[in-house]
Amino acid sequence: MRKKQFKTESKKMLDMMINSIYTHKEIFLRELISNASDAIDKRAYLALTEPEKGLDRSKYRIKIERDAENRTITIIDNGIGMTAEELEKNLGTIARSGSLDFKQNNEKTDDIDIIGQFGVGFYSAFMVADKISVETLSANSDTAYRWESAGADGYTVEECDYDTIGSRITMHLKDDAENENYSEFLEDYTITRLVKKYSDYIRYPIVADMKTQVKKEGSEDEYVDAVEERTLNSMTPIWHRSKSEVTDEEYNAFYTEKFYDFEPPAKVIRFQSEGTVSFEALLFIPKHPPFDYYTKGYEKGLTMYSGGVMIMEKCSDLLPDYFSFVKGVIDSEDFTLNISRETLQHDRQLKVIAKAIEKKIKSELEKMLKNEREAYEHFYEHFGVQLKYGMYSDYGTHKDVLQDLLLFKSSFENKFVTLKEYVERMSDEQKSIYYACGTSVSACEALPQTGAVRSKGYEVLYLCEDVDEFSLKTLMNYKGKSFCNVCADELDIATDEEKEKIKEKNEQKKDLLDFMKERIGEVEAVRFSATLGDHPVCLSTEGEISTEMEKVLSQMPGGDQSVKAKTVLEINESHPVAKALETAFESDRDKAGEYADVLYGMARLICGLAVENPAELCEKVVGLIK
Ligand code: ADP
Repeated sequence: MRKKQFKTESKKMLDMMINSIYTHKEIFLRELISNASDAIDKRAYLALTEPEKGLDRSKYRIKIERDAENRTITIIDNGIGMTAEELEKNLGTIARSGSLDFKQNNEKTDDIDIIGQFGVGFYSAFMVADKISVETLSANSDTAYRWESAGADGYTVEECDYDTIGSRITMHLKDDAENENYSEFLEDYTITRLVKKYSDYIRYPIVADMKTQVKKEGSEDEYVDAVEERTLNSMTPIWHRSKSEVTDEEYNAFYTEKFYDFEPPAKVIRFQSEGTVSFEALLFIPKHPPFDYYTKGYEKGLTMYSGGVMIMEKCSDLLPDYFSFVKGVIDSEDFTLNISRETLQHDRQLKVIAKAIEKKIKSELEKMLKNEREAYEHFYEHFGVQLKYGMYSDYGTHKDVLQDLLLFKSSFENKFVTLKEYVERMSDEQKSIYYACGTSVSACEALPQTGAVRSKGYEVLYLCEDVDEFSLKTLMNYKGKSFCNVCADELDIATDEEKEKIKEKNEQKKDLLDFMKERIGEVEAVRFSATLGDHPVCLSTEGEISTEMEKVLSQMPGGDQSVKAKTVLEINESHPVAKALETAFESDRDKAGEYADVLYGMARLICGLAVENPAELCEKVVGLIK
């Protein structure tokens, strides 16, 4: 029998398969099972017009056999089979038009990626096998054929006496090598795992003989080894069943099993889209972050299926970073057709789907916020940081998606509020949305400036997380209202009368204020203030950088120590310390200097900044008490 050569492009493909990295090898099973499933589809379709060529629907199935002694694994289907011509055409060359393109257009590493993600059909069997034989009898032929190949050096086709319609593909497994354990494909556990992982939703039963134990005949408690045939796949994807038919428990079970969570999800989102790209989606918002969520190791992504076959476990392109906590599956029949064509096309498709998914997640979160406030707040406690980072990164590009999903604690009832709620409560005379920064709500509340703003009847947002102020800065304004840090020196809450009075006072006491500024050194200015209520002093900032931002930036790994807030020491003009300062300045300059140091140290501590030399500050306080 003459050995035939593969077409050149097939040779290249084979080469790629044979040399692919080991971790992708397991997908060969998925590829052969989906071929078998396709072949059954075709036979079932043919039987619509020629019933004598088909089978009763319940008889269609795919069988996996293993022979440990001979190191073979065999996939048997009762699908349409192949004629001699089809064998030549299908297995002698690479049928997919796109396969060769990506081979030529991509770097080696990309090839490997495509093998892992999308597979390349029948040839993937050469990743695990050094010899493959296909016996097949077509529903349209009376003669059966055997195709055989040991890889790149060609293949043979001959008649054989295979007598059931369908195909039987036998792979002789390669020898194990270092880090390459092919024998595992002979094990019950591996086969069960791979079918569950990749082919659970194939519409026909995938069966295999599995080792088990049965009671010994005539005995009550003695067992003997046996084998039993088991169906390994569940067949109907939950997202293909009608919505009314699937119970919450089933969604929850699917979620916890598939995504390894111990708690049911906070929200199940199921939708489909028909348009440029049709797809079905079943998404979940977890109740809590996975253990590795806030680490570099976390991989976002949705599992992609095409016609019931998993083609990619974590497609990261489908989820924006700020929704990276979402889990789920996307199923699109359109994928198979296009995925192996130019990457561009597939990119565009993914973008369309990603956009639709983003929109849906957003609207579901908004619904949750509106109708299930408590659940949303619980969700937000866990994932709010992610949304705020989303706002901050990409320079606010996504603010339309995110701004109404943000929550902040506020002085209004000390609860979470949305920006919308805040703005709706604003009085006409209130110009800005006020916020205070601190390590906790109580730290924000304790700021003198918070008191000052609140005493005007204005609500204050309490920003307690590092990213908070950055995210508001990126947002710049909400519904035309700008954001104002209560510690900013442009905080404009004094009445005209108060302003006039304090301006006069600051001019009168210019000598004292200059003296203090000189003494302290690192402040931009020292000023009297009329809006500090009971508090003696506070530190406000000039310009864009707040003290909170200075802290965050300098604490980041490799943080920028040169970013400094421009601070202003404000002294409450009606507080007794103001009087004491003025008196000391007239009579005892040293003492006035000590007062300045102590007041400045206090102001720093109040707004959560460190003092450079705490021992020295304490000594001064003790000295003054004495
Ligand atoms: P693809 O499935 O993407 O077309 P493959 O390389 O996996 O590419 O298979 C090539 C062709 O071989 C298939 O399109 C199909 O016509 C045929 N084929 C493969 N496996 C079987 C099978 N088990 N039964 C019938 N035909 C098959």
